[in-house]
Amino acid sequence: MILDGKVTSKALLQEIAQEVGRLTGPTKPKLVAVLVGENPASEIYVARKMKVADELGILSELHRFPAHTEEAFLKEELEKLNQDTSVNAVLVQLPLPKQIHTERVLQTILPEKDVDGFHPINMGQLLLGIEPPALPCTPAGIMKLLDAYKIDVSGLNACVVGRSNIVGKPIMLMLTQRNATVTLCHSKTRNLEAVLESSDLVVAAIGQAHLISGNTLKRGCIVVDVGINRLPSGQLVGDVDFESAREKAAFITPVPGGVGPMTIAMLMMNTLRLHQVQQGIQVKNWLL
Ligand code: NDP
Repeated sequence: MILDGKVTSKALLQEIAQEVGRLTGPTKPKLVAVLVGENPASEIYVARKMKVADELGILSELHRFPAHTEEAFLKEELEKLNQDTSVNAVLVQLPLPKQIHTERVLQTILPEKDVDGFHPINMGQLLLGIEPPALPCTPAGIMKLLDAYKIDVSGLNACVVGRSNIVGKPIMLMLTQRNATVTLCHSKTRNLEAVLESSDLVVAAIGQAHLISGNTLKRGCIVVDVGINRLPSGQLVGDVDFESAREKAAFITPVPGGVGPMTIAMLMMNTLRLHQVQQGIQVKNWLL
């Protein structure tokens, strides 16, 4: 069965639009995206985020800075957004140019405006099993997608391939909180195939086209492909070879149309939730 991120995210976005429409307070949720440089992929991602926000009635602004921007200057700009009470949610589009230290910049955003959930306080809470209002969007989107298909991960052997701070590590924590037994793999893992062969759930967040093929997967497993890779032909593919993997898997996400749309939907949900918290409205936990 295909885990359809397009259909699932559409339903979620409709719910968010309805909630935004119901808001009676003086302000609408407002998201600010900060883009440094002209990375073509980042341009596309940010434009998509702004467009979806617009469609939902969420106010959005794109703050652009040139590629040679100094870290100190960028941090000052983020401080201004922290102080601006009309702004509820701030994201810095990654990757940043080399002269800028990513973690230091992400730590500048106030935890209560950290819409990507990357601030050490928010990540730390996740580690401790306390749900912050905004969870990292891609892993949270994966959990929402699994929930939408009523997939209970409790007791499953899960293999996460990739240990980035934005996907691999937080999805490891979320799956652990939901009682999966998680093995976190990376480029130095010995005999990845053996881990994959015994895994009921595989999350691939690597960034290498078709690294995982169906013959290394356990029959009946669940495959979540986070990777977005462009082949020389221009085609977008995941880290998993979809055609061979679908022969083995019980559930699989396509690329595109799987995790990607869920990520954007979660960003919108996070924006709404941060707005609600800042208005003194209690938000319900959904993950933990
Ligand atoms: P990173 O480049 O930060 O991390 C990649 C990870 O893969 C690293 O941990 C690396 O190991 C591991 N890795 C690399 N080669 C191998 C290998 N041969 N075997 C096992 N592990 C390996 O990637 P991100 O997490 O940022 O992104 C991963 C992919 O997901 C990319 O294609 C990205 O475009 C996509 N993505 C998609 C999103 C979406 O919304 N759909 C959102 C975010 C990312 P090591 O740590 O040892 O170097």
